[in-house]
Amino acid sequence: MNPSPYANYIAGQWLEGPSQRANINPSDTRDLIGHYSQADAAQVELALASAAAAAPAWGLSTPQQRADALDTIGQELLARKDALGELLAREEGKTRVEGIGEVARAAAIFKFFAQEALRQRGDKLASVRPGVEVEVTREPLGVVGLITPWNFPAAIPAWKIAPALAFGNAVLFKPAELVPGTAWALSEIISRAGLPAGVFQLLMGPGAVVGQAMLDDARVQGLSFTGSVGTGARVAQAAVQRGAKFQLEMGGKNPWVVLDDADLDLAVNCAVQSAFFSTGQRCTAASRLIVHKAVYAQFVEKMAEATRALRVGHALAPDTQIGPVIDEQQLNQDLRYIAMARAEGARPVCGGELLKRDTPGHFLSPALFADCDNAMQHCREEIFGPVASVIPADNYEHALDLANDTPFGLSSGICTRSLKHASHFKRHAQAGMVMVNLPTAGVDYHVPFGGRKASSQGAREQGSYAAEFFSSVKTSYLLP
Ligand code: NAD
Repeated sequence: MNPSPYANYIAGQWLEGPSQRANINPSDTRDLIGHYSQADAAQVELALASAAAAAPAWGLSTPQQRADALDTIGQELLARKDALGELLAREEGKTRVEGIGEVARAAAIFKFFAQEALRQRGDKLASVRPGVEVEVTREPLGVVGLITPWNFPAAIPAWKIAPALAFGNAVLFKPAELVPGTAWALSEIISRAGLPAGVFQLLMGPGAVVGQAMLDDARVQGLSFTGSVGTGARVAQAAVQRGAKFQLEMGGKNPWVVLDDADLDLAVNCAVQSAFFSTGQRCTAASRLIVHKAVYAQFVEKMAEATRALRVGHALAPDTQIGPVIDEQQLNQDLRYIAMARAEGARPVCGGELLKRDTPGHFLSPALFADCDNAMQHCREEIFGPVASVIPADNYEHALDLANDTPFGLSSGICTRSLKHASHFKRHAQAGMVMVNLPTAGVDYHVPFGGRKASSQGAREQGSYAAEFFSSVKTSYLLP
């Protein structure tokens, strides 16, 4: 049966919601990608009941059954990465190359977890008591609610859905309102992978209705959330109140440190990629460029030159390097912070201007500010746009202090030729991920991802560490 387009996937069926939401291309606001169903409370209830009914049997499914389903999904994503990557770029605004790369990454994640499904490990230990056997095993949580943001519409859903299924959970997937196209396409592929009805469900709709219902319902035993700090706090509060397991991945204000012995071309290249690629709309984007005073003037000059050379335009145009901002609301937030930086006394070097292109879209030139102070408000709060602030540092120790002086702790990078400083930085950066001579954004898919402080809470995502969240440990004692 052909599922009706852009409906929600509930209890093994495509069900249109009582209302729809228009999906608009941020590179060309005349381009309507489609109308997507919005679930209401009745549809959420149907999905919850269906997931709760499906979870016990799926929890007992064989690792082979799970591996086969996940591998099928990964293979189809890979085979269709060009078309899906284009759809992703069209609705989210990152470039076509970035969109295709993200879908390929989502495919790799499904294929990785297809194999992880076969590696469900436990421990058997000798007891401290005579004759007793002790066994440590892992079991599924049951029903998990997966709530995702708009900036990685394929990769983030993949890195939650794949381990959730691999470890035997029933999934309620709630994508961000702004990117239902990729979520729907991914769900359509999953719907044909041989999973029993109710094991995977797509619930598009407003966070306040669909997301909140998942937070509040006792049938949802695990909540995996990626998004803003404010929403993350609501997730944590609801989960703690009713004893559900939760993990949160939230914002960042990531530093990129440039020491006086750095290869300056590499330092600038990494800074441009970290700060401005994907229009700066990455939780791992570097927005604070902390530069040793001995190379400060030279760095700012080279950085300005590289920033001015970036080609901003339609996400699907072949020569575009920086696509549009996702929507008007985010654009207004970026412009507000740009005005704030000026008002706080940061020196505008280049960019921060609205751009006109052939199509009506939310185009903004990447903004570079110099002579910033880490205490300025725009250096402390996540902007989530193409805005970078250069902050001078007296020496390595000062740079490290500045890097760590932030409420966040997701990714932290340094550019240096000194093994001593690189090793010290790896050890002392207060972040979940550290990059030496590599951009702060751009990570492998088979190792843990996550941060510290206000950036993350709960178990790490991705790689074999994903088992920590998506399964529950049981210790059994037996006297034969
Ligand atoms: P957001 O918090 O506005 O929305 C995230 C998701 O939460 C959406 O699906 C939304 O519908 C849902 N939601 C909203 N209200 C809800 C409620 N009351 N109950 C349940 N769910 C609700 O975030 P966003 O604007 O989509 O994404 C941008 C943010 O995501 C940035 O802060 C960025 O740093 C962060 N992010 C973090 C990571 C990471 O891994 N650390 C990765 C990507 C993005």
